[in-house]
Amino acid sequence: MATINNHYLKLKAGYLFPEIARRVNAFAAATPDANIIRLGIGDVTEPLPEACRTAMIKAVNDMGDRATFQGYGPEQGFGWLREKIAAHDFQARGCEVDASEIFISDGSKCDCGNILDIFGNDNAIAVTDPVYPVYVDTNVMAGHTEDANEKGEYGGLVYLPISANNDFTAQIPTQKVDLIYLCFPNNPTGATATKAHLQAWVDYAKANGSIIFFDAAYEAFITDPTLPHSIYELEGARDCAIEFRSFSKNAGFTGTRCALTVVPKTLKGKAADGSEVELWKLWNRRQSTKFNGVSYIVQRGAEAVYSTEGQQQVKGLVNFYMENAKIIRDQLTAAGINVYGGVNAPYVWVQTPNGLSSWDFFDKLLQTCNVVGTPGSGFGAAGEGYFRISAFNSRDNVNEAMKRITEKFKV
Ligand SMILES: *Cc1c(COP(=O)(O)O)cnc(C)c1O
Repeated sequence: MATINNHYLKLKAGYLFPEIARRVNAFAAATPDANIIRLGIGDVTEPLPEACRTAMIKAVNDMGDRATFQGYGPEQGFGWLREKIAAHDFQARGCEVDASEIFISDGSKCDCGNILDIFGNDNAIAVTDPVYPVYVDTNVMAGHTEDANEKGEYGGLVYLPISANNDFTAQIPTQKVDLIYLCFPNNPTGATATKAHLQAWVDYAKANGSIIFFDAAYEAFITDPTLPHSIYELEGARDCAIEFRSFSKNAGFTGTRCALTVVPKTLKGKAADGSEVELWKLWNRRQSTKFNGVSYIVQRGAEAVYSTEGQQQVKGLVNFYMENAKIIRDQLTAAGINVYGGVNAPYVWVQTPNGLSSWDFFDKLLQTCNVVGTPGSGFGAAGEGYFRISAFNSRDNVNEAMKRITEKFKV
């Protein structure tokens, strides 16, 4: 019989969202007329920008004409899209990123996992706690960890706790780690990093020969003009950081699929013989071999994000979700609940009232308000006592959910 990758058996089998679904379904079955509002999952709700749809319809028609038909495109993405990204997202902010260093993909989730292909199996790996589960689970699958303990922490990973005590920004480790996952603005906490904090990480990485995986999926939600959008705004980051970006959250491409990864040509890793190897070459080789690019139609849709109308429409989407976030913050605060995040990110990170556990607060909110959120402990042991509420929803749902919560929790 064929053997399996045994590392998969270490995974805490997709515990969080199935358990949420189980509890919500049980409650719905027992209480059939409850109008349940779901502020749990981090998926967008508003339609695709018109500029993107128009560009995609035109691209579909291109495919219907022999003169403009496209077969396989470049595995790295079309030059016209990479050039626009380089100019608008990086060079306009003073970042030295060339179009050739940008790799278009079908998602940041995939890239965050796939990037491990080009790294060795003996790296010390650091993640924050709480964390976007993809970073952890892909390392478990690759065999980079031991089993999980009863708290869900995998042996062999370095966990950097983030909480209100450190403003949700991890302390720079005292030991040496080789790979570090950072996500700012953060999912799940909604926290952001100042230039000084990110610079400290870059300095640490350069001093230790480490690589930072910088997940900027939520950069469009930054409202504070002093905050960096890209890690390449920091001195020295081209020598130590890979950045992941996505059209999922800013332009509503979660179902359309387009993202990008930046691998600077100055970035190096160490080979078994001690020599230094350009990571760009390895990633380029990896993508050319295992990936055949994103659909021409979708890349045309992504390109339209950079048109004048596209920029306005994306700003409209982001503003809409951020107004939701403000309503959530204001209403919960008025109900006497401590909240974090939600100012530069579409997630509000709630401190559970009266010291309730994350899951006890989940049950209470479900039963008394018929509102669903995400227990913080599902993102890691240090998320215990917190709760994530997503601003990705209709205004009516947000208003109704907040009305119910303020009525029940008013102090
Ligand atoms: C939503 C999200 C992404 C984007 O993933 P896609 O695969 O591009 O849709 C990346 N990182 C984090 C932390 C996210 O929450």
